[in-house]
Amino acid sequence: MDLTLTDEHEAIRALAADFTDRELIPNAAAWDRAEAVDRGIVKRLGDLGFLGMTIPEEYGGSAGDHLAYCLVMEELGRGDTAVRGIVSVSLGLVTKPLLAYGTEEQKRHWIPKLTAGDALGCFGLTEPGNGSDAGHLKTKAVKDGDGWRITGSKIFITNGTWADVALVFARTGNKDGQPDDGPRGITAFLVPTDTPGFQAREIKGKLGLRGQATAELVLEDVRVPDQARLGEIGQGFKIAMSTLDKGRMSVAAGCVGLMQACLNASVDYATQRDQFGKSIAHYQLVQEMLADISVDLDAGRLLVWRVADLIERGQPYATAASTAKLFCSEAAVRAANNAIQVFGGYGYIDEYPVGKYLRDARVLTLYEGTSQIQKLLLGRALTGVSAF
Ligand code: FAD
Repeated sequence: MDLTLTDEHEAIRALAADFTDRELIPNAAAWDRAEAVDRGIVKRLGDLGFLGMTIPEEYGGSAGDHLAYCLVMEELGRGDTAVRGIVSVSLGLVTKPLLAYGTEEQKRHWIPKLTAGDALGCFGLTEPGNGSDAGHLKTKAVKDGDGWRITGSKIFITNGTWADVALVFARTGNKDGQPDDGPRGITAFLVPTDTPGFQAREIKGKLGLRGQATAELVLEDVRVPDQARLGEIGQGFKIAMSTLDKGRMSVAAGCVGLMQACLNASVDYATQRDQFGKSIAHYQLVQEMLADISVDLDAGRLLVWRVADLIERGQPYATAASTAKLFCSEAAVRAANNAIQVFGGYGYIDEYPVGKYLRDARVLTLYEGTSQIQKLLLGRALTGVSAF
């Protein structure tokens, strides 16, 4: 594997780094306190092409390969995990499955708006009663003439109150028209959020990602035409899982950015803070914490770039994506914890950014499959035995 970045990669990284330094880092703490990022950020992300990474230009995308996408996610993650998540979800969990499974009409209708930042998407899989066990979700879609009526609820949906379109997974029965309570009975639908019966209620008081609009979705008899169906009847769970495989790479790339932010802040602080007559950077136990963050960062970045490389070469990547997501999310929590320790008491107050890094990092071990679920996926890949 050649780890040299091309000129194009360097250019997109520089563009994202500049955006992060100018627009995210100066505002991240205020957005966190206000529990809302500036909504105008979505359009600016679209204008820079970040909501269209890897999407062909004919649909308004900015093309680029998966490594370029990861570099952008790293940089956004260095600035504000809440903003990185807005992109990861709208682009990674809505636009990308639309491109992979959508009809030409669906693609032409939604993708240019999503990549431009004129519309935002959310991904509605998790339900109050079914998180890790999404294959047994309960939201129902029943046939109604030439369309469907969807009823149910979703929880913890990123971008939920801001989204213009929700990718909703609902139980329809399987492709043979038979009732099916398992994964084969699930179908995906693109639901415009202004459809009568669709409600999004914001969830306040999150530990981290406080700037991000996380919502409960309530669907009461939401009628959509059959043209809103994404993919085949009964194919929804497969669409959700393949979408999350790539999504995990994006989460892991964001973790790398967060670890980079932890390292930058910790090195700066350690070289400036004096104790016992010299900077704390002189003490071996402090250097150990910096070295630990640095090793986690390097290892994580290599795991993420490997996933991007596998995707580009058309190789299987799901196991590598789980590995990267598991390692990077746990490592991001360790890195943020180490950063707080380097800062001492100052790390515990929100005048400094490291407390937010820990709060934001914590959710990365939970969403898009908890750490336990990643281990079960890896265990199944290793043994051929499903321990779910
Ligand atoms: P549960 O599944 O109830 O798990 C509870 C605990 O049990 C965990 O430790 C889990 O690892 C463990 N566990 C469960 N099953 C097993 C098992 N078989 N073996 C071992 N341990 C097990 N979802 C979306 O669909 N779209 C989104 O945009 C989205 N965004 C999110 C944003 C935030 C801020 C948060 C907090 C969550 C978001 N989620 C989203 C939901 C997230 O993916 C789920 O919270 C996650 O999948 C876990 O589900 P759960 O919360 O129901 O926990």
